[in-house]
Amino acid sequence: MRRNYLGFRCPLCDKGGHRDNRALSRHLWVHHPAYAQQNNTPSGKKRCTYPGCDYEGREDSVVRHMKQHEK
Ligand SMILES: [Zn+2]
Ligand SMILES: [Zn+2]
Repeated sequence: MRRNYLGFRCPLCDKGGHRDNRALSRHLWVHHPAYAQQNNTPSGKKRCTYPGCDYEGREDSVVRHMKQHEK
């Protein structure tokens, strides 16, 4: 028998079934971005630190992207 089948539950739309905290965080960013922002929900995304650039993406793609600035 599966324990705690509902997993992590979204506090806003009361939807359960998020497998882990990351899945719930992703849900929050997609469906409730204002709430996610207020609660410092980790987005799993990174932002390019190059001045004036607002590229954003998964960590590995940001690393790849930032190599462009090194030229
Ligand atoms: Zn929700
Ligand atoms: Zn950049």
